[in-house]
Amino acid sequence: MDPMTYEGYVLPEALRLLKQTVQDYVQKEIIALERELDPEAIELPPEHFQQLSKKVQQMGLWCWEVPERYGGQGFNCFWDAVLSEDAVQHRAGLYLPGYGTFGSPPQPVAYEYGTPEQIETYVVPTIQGSRASFFAITEPSGGSDPARAIRTTAVRDGDDWVINGSKIFISGALQADWGIVFTRTDPQSRRGITCFIVEKGTPGFTVQPVPVIRPWYPTQLFFQDVRVPDRNRLGEVNGGWNILANRLLGRGRIPYSAANLGVSVAAHRMAVEYAQTRETFGALLSSRQAIQWMLVDNEVEIAACRWLVWQAAWRFDAGEEFRKEAAMAKLFSSEMLGRVVDRAVQVHGGYGVSKWLPLERWYREARVRRIGEGPSEVMRMLIARYLFSGSQPGGPS
Ligand SMILES: Cc1cc2nc3c(=O)[nH]c(=O)nc-3n(C[C@H](O)[C@H](O)[C@H](O)COP(=O)(O)OP(=O)(O)OC[C@H]3O[C@@H](n4cnc5c(N)ncnc54)[C@H](O)[C@@H]3O)c2cc1C
Repeated sequence: MDPMTYEGYVLPEALRLLKQTVQDYVQKEIIALERELDPEAIELPPEHFQQLSKKVQQMGLWCWEVPERYGGQGFNCFWDAVLSEDAVQHRAGLYLPGYGTFGSPPQPVAYEYGTPEQIETYVVPTIQGSRASFFAITEPSGGSDPARAIRTTAVRDGDDWVINGSKIFISGALQADWGIVFTRTDPQSRRGITCFIVEKGTPGFTVQPVPVIRPWYPTQLFFQDVRVPDRNRLGEVNGGWNILANRLLGRGRIPYSAANLGVSVAAHRMAVEYAQTRETFGALLSSRQAIQWMLVDNEVEIAACRWLVWQAAWRFDAGEEFRKEAAMAKLFSSEMLGRVVDRAVQVHGGYGVSKWLPLERWYREARVRRIGEGPSEVMRMLIARYLFSGSQPGGPS
């Protein structure tokens, strides 16, 4: 073969087919149902949820990012990113793709660090959909720098641990029946953190919603002398630092960024379509340079974002250092999402802020994306560290 020829980048055939399957599913099943739901809905009626979850299982898409041995499809990070872009393209999709009908697995650290008993009791039933989980790091004392901010304590007492303290902004804890809670077990050390699996209903453990801009409210958790058996410890005593570092390592930022990308694509598509039908001053919006430039900026930013997301995913799958790339994808995608949805709202005029269209929900939810999963400032700090630690500026990490 001529060494100078190359085929360019194409998605593998199997992935292209799955991508189409996800697009069709979201369009024909989710968006069709969503039209009948309240614009703030965070769940499907139970009969639809059951029926669609089964359908997704039959399509081979249930919990696609989870290893097969736990009941998922074992897709790699790149496949996950490509499919996540499509799964989120409906009104509730940014936070609740398919309203949970693709499965709601626990955070990967649960099966990476869980004992066989914990995996059987908590992880597998959650992947199967009969249980649901939350993941609690952030405290009233702060979330950007959790290693320092974690003040909830766990003190050993015989075969149990006694937990006291509070967590804030915890997603999914109203719906969940168990969760992973990060506690301080060595007050002298920044690394003295231990994780526990805590069941809802344990005496002294209470959960309250925290009303925010997003319809899917996070929660505040309160722990007052909550006794948890040692068998519910996840990982080593004072080993929570490793779990935190693993989590903060940023693999999760890649599908998170793909979701930002997907909603940007959906908002942009709506704006391009609308501009071609709406007339003002005797001509279509699409003929106006002011409108064209907004749409062109969307187009360029979306294309750039996709490469950032894919680059991070490729490096993760190849076992290469990927943290800078994941941080760049998270930073750019979350900030771009705000800009793209804002422009799409502007093109739609008054309809853009009405609850008849998904744009106003995306507009509100997009604001949270610059804070959750590592705020923009923390992403910039992380990228800056690479700049000044010997890596090639403008090159890979
Ligand atoms: C809707 C929602 C859902 C969430 N879900 C979860 C969840 O499920 N589990 C969980 O554990 N947490 C969750 N969080 C918490 C989220 O991770 C934190 O809000 C986030 O990490 C920031 O922490 P903080 O709010 O305490 O802000 P702080 O840490 O107090 O930071 C305040 C601001 O200062 C900036 N900042 C911090 N340090 C610096 C610095 N050195 N230089 C410049 N700027 C800086 C931050 O970027 C931020 O903008 C959720 C939050 C929200 C809003």
